[in-house]
Amino acid sequence: MDLERPLPQPITPEAKPYWEGLREQKLMLPRCRACRRAHFYPRVLCPHCHAADIEWFQASGRGKLHSFEIGYQTFNKAFKVKPPFVLAMIELEEGPRMMSNLIGIEPDPAKIRCDMPVDPKKIRCDMPVEVVFEKQTDEITLPLFRPAGGAR
Ligand SMILES: [Zn+2]
Repeated sequence: MDLERPLPQPITPEAKPYWEGLREQKLMLPRCRACRRAHFYPRVLCPHCHAADIEWFQASGRGKLHSFEIGYQTFNKAFKVKPPFVLAMIELEEGPRMMSNLIGIEPDPAKIRCDMPVDPKKIRCDMPVEVVFEKQTDEITLPLFRPAGGAR
């Protein structure tokens, strides 16, 4: 799976609780009432069982680094993280995976704890991470992640 920039998406009705939560420094996740599984990104039907019965809950904000690559170009001038940066696939404690940036760490593959290199650009990791809320505009706050237990 390719890592993509976590650009703000147009705010669709089914994603509204997600963006509203971020503005209040909460990471909200959709969960299916039928099969009780959380998912991401927000959608109308549960990706696991296709039920249309979705509720929202506040995620812990904890997870682990699933894979990453180093980005050297800024794709969006509004984005406040300067290159080089770490594009990261975060596996949330609740199960869903989320594309984000890993901050609070040098963007150097050798400094990121990894156990099983698959290829030089995508390395499986299990480093514990936690969410940090980065306000971009009045509308948009993005969830970024940093190594768990980092200084606030
Ligand atoms: Zn379901």
